[in-house]
Amino acid sequence: MKILNAILGATALAALSLVSTVANAAGFPERQITMIVPFAAGGPTDTVARLVAEAMSKDLGQQVIVENVGGAGGTLGAARVANAEKDGYTILLHHIGMATSNTLYRKLPYKTLEAFDYIGLVTDVPMTLLARKDMPADDLKGLVEYAKANKDKVTVANAGIGAASHLCGMLFMSSIQTALVTVPYKGTGPAMTDLLGGQVDIMCDQTTNTTKQIQGKTVKAYAVTSPKRLDVLKDLPTVKEAGLPQMEVGIWHGMYAPKGAPKEAIDKLNKALKVALKDTNVGARFAELGTTPSPDADATPEALKAKLEGEIARWKPVIEAAGQYAD
Ligand code: ASP
Repeated sequence: MKILNAILGATALAALSLVSTVANAAGFPERQITMIVPFAAGGPTDTVARLVAEAMSKDLGQQVIVENVGGAGGTLGAARVANAEKDGYTILLHHIGMATSNTLYRKLPYKTLEAFDYIGLVTDVPMTLLARKDMPADDLKGLVEYAKANKDKVTVANAGIGAASHLCGMLFMSSIQTALVTVPYKGTGPAMTDLLGGQVDIMCDQTTNTTKQIQGKTVKAYAVTSPKRLDVLKDLPTVKEAGLPQMEVGIWHGMYAPKGAPKEAIDKLNKALKVALKDTNVGARFAELGTTPSPDADATPEALKAKLEGEIARWKPVIEAAGQYAD
């Protein structure tokens, strides 16, 4: 009898906790949400996240705060979210690195395609190829000549293996068939400080972080990786125009939750994301930074899942051919 009572008691408790999870999910969000950015503060992903988080907070009626967990090319922050509570209160804003790190890292602390629920695509950002202000080359052809002639001393900053800056730098080096010295940072926010100070020579980074510097002529800019020139940087040629079409790449960003988050939470986060991407302030700031918010049709879990799967397949052979892995 005692055993039967114990079983009944345990079943009742389990049922009760199920009811309370469902009730909590229906009331989502009841407290602040943390958006993990897997790179340092002050960089391009951080800029996108803070703009979107602020607009999502208004729609959700709760604060969405940004926490920077930089290091290991974005994989530390992604791991943090993969292992977080599956309640929708911890989410991740990451970019193309989510796809490339799946091949680049021999040992990832999470399974990219199994560890996350999808909220939606956020934005697509081009990259720009830059050098310190006093680089003695005024166009891409000159930069390539300089890099080849000084390959043992030219340094290229990036935000670690798996970062967009790493991918873009890798495309640059493979396009010119010259390996240069790479210098990893926790994000291109701090890397930009060193480029401005002349401590590193070259960096390829998202326009969210570089447009103001290029306009202010605090760096030298050689090309943008989009297929067309940008309205905010009209004088900057595309990589195709400048002679390195292999460098064309768009840095798409997506929003994720740990796998198993309640559907109600994902639905509300997705709705808030769509509202944020249509917010006039977000739209205006994105435009100033040469960035495009994802349209409604792409700001969906299905579109992000398809993008991630497609991009893992697209970059796998490129990375394998370059033979650059991290352990
Ligand atoms: N997006 C990264 C950052 O915010 C840099 C990168 O991916 O290269 O620092």
